[in-house]
Amino acid sequence: MRKTDVQAIVTYIKTTSGCTICGYNSDPTKLDFHHREDTDRKFCIGDFRCSQVGDINKLFDEIDKCIILCRVCHNIWEAGLRRGVL
Ligand SMILES: [Zn+2]
Repeated sequence: MRKTDVQAIVTYIKTTSGCTICGYNSDPTKLDFHHREDTDRKFCIGDFRCSQVGDINKLFDEIDKCIILCRVCHNIWEAGLRRGVL
């Protein structure tokens, strides 16, 4: 599977799901996958490189551990975590 195919899948998931908090989905480059705090993070979704077709399942497993947040909500979320309110 080519890198561009993986990016297309990731972009599709971002735009169809949108930000978990505010629903923003206009620009997938402003949406990030954020690992939920109770999950076992193996890699960053953005760093994923697919060397075999079967590897795509590893990507989906990892995406299952994430919520999608826009940049604004991500900043607020991280700040909340640091203050211990989340
Ligand atoms: Zn948002």
